[in-house]
Amino acid sequence: MTTQCKICSKRQSRANPLASCTACKATYHRACGQITDPIFNAILNDAIEWKCLQCRRTSSRVSGTFLPSTSQRKLSSNPTNETSTPTPDVSNIAKLEQTINSLANELQTIKSQQSVINTSIDKFSNGLKDLQLITKTLGEHDRRLETAFQVGLFTNKQCTI
Ligand SMILES: [Zn+2]
Ligand SMILES: [Zn+2]
Repeated sequence: MTTQCKICSKRQSRANPLASCTACKATYHRACGQITDPIFNAILNDAIEWKCLQCRRTSSRVSGTFLPSTSQRKLSSNPTNETSTPTPDVSNIAKLEQTINSLANELQTIKSQQSVINTSIDKFSNGLKDLQLITKTLGEHDRRLETAFQVGLFTNKQCTI
């Protein structure tokens, strides 16, 4: 194994082991590859597939680094949870239908009440017409009575004197 660091060209030692990129197979010291401790240990234990900074820049969004893959999983799992909850909406629609039905019933009762009111208004207006007729005829009677009274008064005066 004559592997050496791609950055500093030094070989690996016990204190400074080398981690290899899964894409370009280049090897890096922890500090040279700008790798954090937990990730570096995971690379050495073959726990993860790691890509160096250059490979990550050239072919972004390929699995290999810890944080992007887990955050992508979280991002993709949330919308599916939101879209898989249309069941409460159905019950809401049923409730809406119920309220609409009750409103329609109320409207019908209001309409029937209005028809009753309309007939009573018709009766009232008819009664008013009758009253107007009566007052007219009464007025005529009054005038006749007045003239009769004036004549009568005259005769009455004559009578009393
Ligand atoms: Zn190095
Ligand atoms: Zn690489």
